[in-house]
Amino acid sequence: MSASALPILRFDNLTLGYNRHPAVHHLRGEIAAGSLLAVVGPNGAGKSTLLKGIVGELRPIQGRIELMGLKRENIAYLAQQSTLDSSFPIVISDFVAMGLWAEFGAFRGFDYGARQRIEAAIAAVGLSGLENRPIGQLSGGQLQRARFARVILQDSPLVLLDEPYGAIDANTVRDLAMLVRRWNAEGRTVISVLHDFSHVRQEYPETLLLAREVVARGATADVLCEENQERARHLAEAQGDDADAPICHADITAQHHH
Ligand code: ADP
Ligand code: MG
Repeated sequence: MSASALPILRFDNLTLGYNRHPAVHHLRGEIAAGSLLAVVGPNGAGKSTLLKGIVGELRPIQGRIELMGLKRENIAYLAQQSTLDSSFPIVISDFVAMGLWAEFGAFRGFDYGARQRIEAAIAAVGLSGLENRPIGQLSGGQLQRARFARVILQDSPLVLLDEPYGAIDANTVRDLAMLVRRWNAEGRTVISVLHDFSHVRQEYPETLLLAREVVARGATADVLCEENQERARHLAEAQGDDADAPICHADITAQHHH
């Protein structure tokens, strides 16, 4: 658990979903500032949905998310990797510099200090010398390094990472995991959606296990016990068949009784 008792996030009976179909429902509780929290669960558990809710990409169907001490637009959010990023005709340094847009605006030039920060961020992820390489020419690992450099520049107290290590090489995972550790040591809150339980056990003191609802939350070793994993699988299978079926208004109301 974090040394700081002050929450940075509070979930108040939160239900998120799409077109009124709940994907993850009735979340409650706080996340302490300075937490290093893993979010795990089966496919379709609502992990990505939860991060989208926190950044405000999705409005709650019910309940609320409260952010303490920062604005939504200042959250550093690394979405699940898509091919979209690499289709931009842009070189690494410009791609990384987008991390300063919230601070400088998209159309203002960067001063000397900003250019130095961009250079330092590129160095911190091991991409020095590749500043002028079009991002479409990068390997998956290099592109992920560039995305992490952008997060460095955002300098946010809250960092959300959605499956940051899917399909990238072991060296890159090691280097980027070290950055995550550093961010947390600097007092930032980091919430990462992850699949690799041994990585979670090694790096994340706290875990939230989701299966469209909270299965367990707390110290990683407790949360990832076989019993909880079994329960998560069971819930995912039980809901899997009609996961995408419309949920009528009556069902949503029925869930109030939880
Ligand atoms: P996870 O990240 O845990 O694999 P998601 O949060 O992506 O799961 O998805 C949770 C549920 O919401 C799934 O049933 C998924 O099909 C549904 N879902 C996700 N994105 C959308 C979308 N854009 N429109 C409709 N349904 C979606
Ligand atoms: Mg996901």
